[in-house]
Amino acid sequence: MADIIQLLPDHVANQIAAGEVVQRPASVVKELLENAIDAKATSVTLVIKDAGKTLVQVTDNGIGMSVTDARLSFERHATSKIKSAEDLFNLHTKGFRGEALASIAAIAHVELKTKTEDSEIGTHLTIEGSKVISQDPAVVPKGTTISVKNLFYNIPARRNFLKSNPVETRHIIDEFHRVALAHPNVAFQMLHNGSDVFNLPSSNSRQRIVNIFGSKTNEKLVPVSEETEILKIEGFVLKPEFGKKSRGEQFFFVNDRFIKSSYLHHAVASAFEGLMKNDIHPGYFLFLEVDPHSIDINIHPTKTEIKFDDEHSIYAMLRATIKHSLGQFNIAPVLDFERDKGFDTPYDYSKKQPTAPSIEVDRDFNPFKEKPKQGNINFPFKREQPASWESLYVGLKDESSAVSNLGDIEFESEEVTGSLFDTSEAETGQTTFQLQNKYIVSPLKNGMMIIHQNLAHQRILYEELLKNITVKEAVSQQLLFPLQLHFSKPDLEIIEKIREQLEHTGFIFSELKDETIEISGIPVLILESHVVNLLNQLVHDIKEEVPDTGFSQNDMLAKSMAASMAIKTGVSLNKEEREHLINQLFACKEPTVSPTNKPVFTALDVSDLDKKFM
Ligand code: ADP
Ligand code: MG
Repeated sequence: MADIIQLLPDHVANQIAAGEVVQRPASVVKELLENAIDAKATSVTLVIKDAGKTLVQVTDNGIGMSVTDARLSFERHATSKIKSAEDLFNLHTKGFRGEALASIAAIAHVELKTKTEDSEIGTHLTIEGSKVISQDPAVVPKGTTISVKNLFYNIPARRNFLKSNPVETRHIIDEFHRVALAHPNVAFQMLHNGSDVFNLPSSNSRQRIVNIFGSKTNEKLVPVSEETEILKIEGFVLKPEFGKKSRGEQFFFVNDRFIKSSYLHHAVASAFEGLMKNDIHPGYFLFLEVDPHSIDINIHPTKTEIKFDDEHSIYAMLRATIKHSLGQFNIAPVLDFERDKGFDTPYDYSKKQPTAPSIEVDRDFNPFKEKPKQGNINFPFKREQPASWESLYVGLKDESSAVSNLGDIEFESEEVTGSLFDTSEAETGQTTFQLQNKYIVSPLKNGMMIIHQNLAHQRILYEELLKNITVKEAVSQQLLFPLQLHFSKPDLEIIEKIREQLEHTGFIFSELKDETIEISGIPVLILESHVVNLLNQLVHDIKEEVPDTGFSQNDMLAKSMAASMAIKTGVSLNKEEREHLINQLFACKEPTVSPTNKPVFTALDVSDLDKKFM
């Protein structure tokens, strides 16, 4: 048989390597910013267009490259940063693989302009899909500008795989934050589609944090500082009361390199023990310095993990140092550990005399009247309905189509449904009960139904919210004293983007500028005390683009709001609340599944039970 093995041509090898190094525009941003830092720049400008899909450009005033180096920099494994394997264990630069530029040039249109301090004239090089198109002398200032255009132009599958512009921009901003935080002495600027996103002058680390995350951050910071033989720790933690439910500002840097470490995160979190509730995460900006010999970063090119020789000591030191700082700065527990029930249940709003929704309320509609023409469920909960319920029955009109698909149990005709619930039992008062403050169990004629309270409530809220958003007729409760909330600039931008939809749910924003939001009205469905968490969660979800298929902004907004507003597991519900929830659930269009496609309830038939006793 003839020989069949061939060496891959360089451009193919580069394209394959690019698959690892460049996942999205943010990867290009990271590599270019790090190269600028390695080139000892004191000022770096990042320009992006269309979330980096059309253009990522980084300009620095660093050492620049000679004509030959400019050309070489795009070869694979071409680097000025290490010369031998030993150097790997004494790294003082971000880069060392010599892969980034070669990879980027394989999958984009790249332009490089660069000049060193001592040369009169610079060089201008264009390269597309690993092919050098031109290289000419050019009059340029000292330093380097690299423009990366049309990323993945020759890999359509990759290009199509990119997420929406807000999501890709979010990733870029994350990378920008990481590099900018690690190098406060370097001035950074970022522009997106021609407008300023960040303008960060050279400063110290505290000022850098404040310049990025907003002036309100300053008073939240508790300094942390410690130096031992093996480890130096500098930085800040956020005071416990500024912890967040969602993972927020959490930054570890080791020798100026951003890293992720759940192990070290745990060390910090445990230092906050007793100061914060379990589901709240502390915020921190921690800069660790260790001997470069004692770490190994030679793992995956895009991974942000790191291996320490002496992980246990670092853990212990970090924990002790933070505990010490918290103690020193007199951070007493300020959180109210008493759980505010109203926080979890929206039922209180019945006492707040909400304005009746002006839409889709059929005032003549009586949910307990027989409706012979419709395949409606006959609820067993006729007797204990509070009077105000009727106003909450928004959208009941079209439930004829609603209860068509109830999972295991089929409600096809009135004859079947009418007898489904065991009315006799309902009348004796043994209607429903709660299991583990999580499930509501309700007897059926032929068995029982087990309903997940949180998922059920999510479904109810989701449909209600989606309707409000799309019908655009909000029901607001005016606040006596407007709420003033503070957000970082990028977070505020996200809120600005969804402002209109939020207003349709009932929010009234009287002001939205700088880092402050003033809210003068909120949806009737929410408690005032819940607003901050809700908005934080929303911003977080949008950043993460949590939802699955069928994504649309309204849909995701409703899902996210429903998830954060719904009654949680662990909340005990009284009889009326349980029954109210069940009634509302089955007034929904799709009572069977939660907004995130999980089953909301399950039914156990007596025949299923019988099988267990055979
Ligand atoms: P690495 O950073 O791992 O060395 P890169 O592919 O990112 O690999 O860069 C290759 C080489 O190009 C670098 O080692 C450096 O010599 C040079 N280079 C890249 N960007 C710059 C820059 N902004 N200024 C000066 N030199 C640069
Ligand atoms: Mg590099």
